[in-house]
Amino acid sequence: MGLAPPPAYADLLRAKQSHSSLSEYRGCPLRFAFRYLYQLRPPQHAYLTFGSSVHEVLEADVRARIQARRDGATAPARTIDSLAERFDRVWLDSSTGEATPVAREEYHRRARVAFERYLDREAVRDAAPVAVEARFDFEVPGPPDAAPIRIHGAIDRIDRHADGTIEIIDYKTGRARTPAQVDHDDQLTMYALAVADGDVRDEATGEPIPAPGILTLFFVEHGLWISTHRTAEQLDAMRTSIAQTVARMRAGDFAATPSEQACGRCDYAALCPERHPGADA
Ligand code: SF4
Repeated sequence: MGLAPPPAYADLLRAKQSHSSLSEYRGCPLRFAFRYLYQLRPPQHAYLTFGSSVHEVLEADVRARIQARRDGATAPARTIDSLAERFDRVWLDSSTGEATPVAREEYHRRARVAFERYLDREAVRDAAPVAVEARFDFEVPGPPDAAPIRIHGAIDRIDRHADGTIEIIDYKTGRARTPAQVDHDDQLTMYALAVADGDVRDEATGEPIPAPGILTLFFVEHGLWISTHRTAEQLDAMRTSIAQTVARMRAGDFAATPSEQACGRCDYAALCPERHPGADA
């Protein structure tokens, strides 16, 4: 059973890509088509609202510290209580049907743990934040004889160490990963490419931020800080991988790649004629 061509197909394929869209395509091209071509928005899961609310609180905290540096002022004090109070407001504003008292209590508890570990880490860091929720928009060469590809996104936080080393930090809620997984994390590689491209600036000075020497995933609920780096060869491999993925999109390859794992957590499984039978269980 085939799907009718989506509206404005060509326009949508010319749109900018992001880590999320490329990752969705690599997971299953048909799932990508449901979301980005047919524009069927996935449901807002409670765990996503929790994660985005924690990010928003941490973003505000780091932004206040950058602002203080710009003004030559002392950064405002913060405590677990003050961060948790802000979390409660943000979560209630952004959560929809899942804002039951039980869910509220559970997410408040998890948020307090995350903020305690965040503040513990902040207390021993010797680096200063230079950008937060840093937006980027850079170009990667397209497939031969085709238009370049624009990649956009935002980096949670960028710090500068006392010796000038730049560190990219991405906060994660939920399950932690292994160092080997962080070494191969595509999102961090894309962020390294964006900063190396010179597209991200120090918010206090306006100067372009140099290429990062450290890439970190901070699993805030676990207090786990895992760092890695990327070589020039790895950045080139990412450019090639992006071009190959977009070439398949532009060629109209949206064939499903069902698997028990992918289909089992797919938001479009109920609509999909190709879902893996094991995912129905
Ligand atoms: S149910 Fe499986 S095959 Fe269908 S779109 Fe989702 S991941 Fe792809």
